[in-house]
This record gives sequence, C-alpha cells and structure tokens, in this order.
Amino acid sequence: MFESLSDGLQSAFKSIRGKGKLTEANMRDGLQMVEQAMLEADVSYQVVQDFMAKVTQAAMGQKVLLSLRPHEELVRIVHQELIEILGPVDVSIPIKAGQVTVLMLCGLQGAGKTTTCGKLSQLLKEQKASPFLVAADLQRPAAIQQLHTLGEQLGVPVYSDLNEQDPVKVCRAGVAKAKEQGANVVILDTAGRLAIDDELMKQLCEIDKKIGPDQVYLVVDGMTGQDAVNSASAFNSALELDGVIMTKLDGDARGGALLSVKHVTQVPVKFIGTGEHLDALEAFRPEGMAGRILEMGDIVAVAQEAHRIIDDGEREKLEARMASGQFTLEDFRGVLEKIAKPGLMQKMMSLMPGMGDMKKMLAGGDTDGEVRKMLGVIDSMTTHERRNWKLIDTPRRQRIAQGAGVQPTVVNALIKQFSIIMPMMQMAAGGNSRDRMQMMQQ
Ligand code: GDP
Repeated sequence: MFESLSDGLQSAFKSIRGKGKLTEANMRDGLQMVEQAMLEADVSYQVVQDFMAKVTQAAMGQKVLLSLRPHEELVRIVHQELIEILGPVDVSIPIKAGQVTVLMLCGLQGAGKTTTCGKLSQLLKEQKASPFLVAADLQRPAAIQQLHTLGEQLGVPVYSDLNEQDPVKVCRAGVAKAKEQGANVVILDTAGRLAIDDELMKQLCEIDKKIGPDQVYLVVDGMTGQDAVNSASAFNSALELDGVIMTKLDGDARGGALLSVKHVTQVPVKFIGTGEHLDALEAFRPEGMAGRILEMGDIVAVAQEAHRIIDDGEREKLEARMASGQFTLEDFRGVLEKIAKPGLMQKMMSLMPGMGDMKKMLAGGDTDGEVRKMLGVIDSMTTHERRNWKLIDTPRRQRIAQGAGVQPTVVNALIKQFSIIMPMMQMAAGGNSRDRMQMMQQ
C-alpha cells in the first residue's frame, strides 16, 4: 500500500518528466496524479485536500512552469509539503529532574509495544537515564516473559506480578518499586488486543487516570495502513496522547500511513521503528520520512547507520578520502563487505538515494547472495577501473559482467548507485564539522 504511494507519486513525476517547459494543463495532470496516489494510499481526504491546495499553489507559479526542470521543481515542492505536514518535530522525552517520569505505551497487539519498550530503555540508558520496565500486559502471559527477556538483555529491571489481575495495581506497585530502586524513568507496557474493544480502552483509561503517566505514546504498526489510522483514531479519542511511535518502517512500508496518523492524532511523531533489533529505533525526522516516501532515500539515516558499523578511525580515513574526491569503488567494496550482514544490506538499500531500481531488483531475493554478487562485480574490474569508475564504458561493462557472471544491468545499477551517492558523500564529508553535526541532527 505504501509502495503504492511511492509508486503513485513516481508515476506522477514521470508524467511530466522530460517535458521541458510545462503548460498549466500538463502540470494539472501531474497534480491530479499526485492527489490520486495519496487517496489510493489511504491518506485521509482532508489531509489530501489541504496538501493539494498548498502544492497546487506553489506548483502553478510562473517560476515552476517556466523552469527548465519543472519535474524536479514539483518533486521539491511535494517534498517540502510532506515535511510540513509530518512536522512539527518534537522527539524529546521530557524527564523530570529528581523525580520519576512515567511513560505509558499503548497500541494494538502485535504493533510492537513490548519491543519498543526495550528499544526506549536502551535509548534512555544511552542518555544516562535509569529506566525501569513494568509488565502491565496481563492479557498475554508471553508478553510478560518477553519483557523479562528484554530486561535481562539490557540490564534493565522489570516488574511483574503473575498473581495480580488488575493492571492498575501492577502499574502502581511497579512505579513504587522503581522509586525504591532509584530508577528515574518507568515504562509501562500495557495490554493490546487484536482489534480495538471497549474493555481495552476502559482499562487503559483507568491506568491513565489512576497512575497519571507523564507521557502517553501510541505505538502503531506501519505495515497495517488503514488499520493503523483507525486504531490511532480510537486511541486518540480515549486517551490524551503525547506522541506516536510508528514501527516496522523497515522492509517495504514507506510511511504513507504516518500522514493520516499524524493528522488524526495531531501529536508529534517521536520515533520510528526500523527493525526487530533493540537499536532499530530512530528519532523521527520529517525530512528523512519525506525522502523515503518519495524514494529519494535518506542519506542522514545511511550516515547514522554507517556510524554504527564502521569504527571511528576507519571512518575518519574514509571521510578524508571522500572529501578529497578519492573515494573509489575499492573503498566502496570495503564498506560493502562490512554491511554484508543479514538484513543490514536491505535496510541500507532502502535508505540510499537513487536505489529504487536496485531495490526492486533485489526485492524478495537473497540479499546476502546479491551482496556477494556486487563484490564479485567489483572484483572483476581492473584496479584502474576501481579507482576511476568513469573509465567504465559499455564494452568494459560487458566484460565486467561476463567476468562476474551477472547481467550487464547489475553492473549498470552498481555504477549508477555509486555515481549518485559519491557526490553526496563527498558533500557530507567535506562540510565542516558543525555542518555535519547539524546534518546528523536534522
Ligand atoms: P506487542 O504485542 O505490541 O507488544 O508487539 P511485540 O513487541 O511483541 O512485536 C510484535 C512483532 O513485531 C515482533 O515479532 C517484533 O519483533 C516485531 N517488531 C516490532 N517492532 C518492529 C520493527 O520496527 N520492525 C520490524 N521488522 N519488526 C518489529
């Protein structure tokens, strides 16, 4: 479904691409396709109307119509408006000084609450807070066990009481225990149901009223599209939400549902979950999300991911080579080897600008095998070619493809990707450290 928002928007842009100067009629056709793509992706009618009014106003200006690349202008305008409606940004978790801060996580069963409790604990620990988990999901005994396992993994205490049926009592006792143990942030993992029901909502309202959490976060599954929007609407009417966390935005979900969830709840999106591992939680950045929806990639997220997998010394060397324009396919091979871990490559690909074609080629396939294939392609190049990819003309591509036992399209895709990300990396590496810090924090 979110693929369809991305795909639909891509078709809209393609419809006016290469037209040179545009007429108002051409642009209107393109805009109509943008509108249709959004409606088909279950973005709510009101959101689409507001969005289209702003985009149309900007796109119909003479500056756009007379520009040499109106297609790029339209992409820029849509990108800008997506950022607008996905904001404003507030990814802070307000922690009270000298007191215990209580965070309550709610959402449907399977949305990723328990996993997110673990991810938040890890994040809080990194920020030098001392988190404490409370297993208040009494509907699902496995959830209690799951939370204990996460707690052990993270070294975070977990409170549960298998003999207690009342989640309010469990939460109250949990908060007391946390205070006793000197923790400063309590995270309540509440119960979810497969669908919204009155009893669940009543139970959550009771916890909200009697425990008075400082922040209530709704966890929604980004893969479920309209269901995510419906559940957001129901939770929002029952509870006063302070933020949304959308999970499972790895894989194919591109986050189109976030537009509607954001509109329905009117609260900031705090984090997005991008994998099952405990470090797969990203502070929400509208720019990154808009880039993902438009298949423009998210170079900041790639950089953040790279920070995790490449150590500081090595990164400095690579950055120096990038800044001086000396980053070659040989260096790229070294990086590829590092990211040839299960699942990691796919994630990086989905974030890389200009990787739409490559990603489609790899979709559902054996990604590790594909990485080996790419390594094979680079290995079939001569040292000269690896150091200067511009040497690689059609006959060379064919020779390389033959040597690596792949189709020439694979060589093309690899070179295309390298040529797109190279200047961006160079820019990112070349800026002064303050620019870079800003880029990382955007
Ligand atoms: P809960 O019922 O809401 O507590 O959901 P769980 O935390 O048990 O998560 C349900 C499933 O979703 C588990 O298999 C998790 O590993 C998985 N999951 C949670 N967050 C993410 C995410 O961001 N990405 C992916 N791919 N899977 C996730």
